[in-house]
Amino acid sequence: MSERKIICVDMDEVLADALGEHLLRYNQEFDEHVTTEDLHGRWLWDYVPQERIGALERYIRSDDFFSVLTVMPEAQRVLKSLQMHYDIYIATAAMEIPSSFNAKFKWLEEHFPFIPPSHIVFCGDKGILRGDYLIDDNPRQLRRFHGEGLLYSAPANALVEGFRRVDNWPAIEELLLGNL
Ligand SMILES: [Mg+2]
Repeated sequence: MSERKIICVDMDEVLADALGEHLLRYNQEFDEHVTTEDLHGRWLWDYVPQERIGALERYIRSDDFFSVLTVMPEAQRVLKSLQMHYDIYIATAAMEIPSSFNAKFKWLEEHFPFIPPSHIVFCGDKGILRGDYLIDDNPRQLRRFHGEGLLYSAPANALVEGFRRVDNWPAIEELLLGNL
């Protein structure tokens, strides 16, 4: 019998809609109407005027940012199905914002209670992970990963090539469970 494969799953922009919350707060504060379409190929950080970068930083460092994030459509259902055939680890580059640890952990507990704490990894460089797949929206992390990187589509990575791409959770379901 073959060993179960390991899937590592990123959190922001893959399980949690952090960009949506960012745009909401940004548009409210500056009375703007920036949409995900406007960002095509750019991180929000590269899109906003230099003098407003501080505001973006302020949002993610605020205590309530990570706790209110919306779950990506169908992520719960598909991840639960994947769990029957694969070992699932959530891997989030939380080291960039250490103050987010608690909120992220609680968010996972609330929305993904079927993922045990032993399968949650707060890390920096995802090159350290040992897994067969990493589902992530950040090509920088995918390049460092030793298994196969699956690029989860996000406005910022619209122009990135060189990875198998998944547009949403049903696409992940088809790719990783379709042939079982
Ligand atoms: Mg991400």
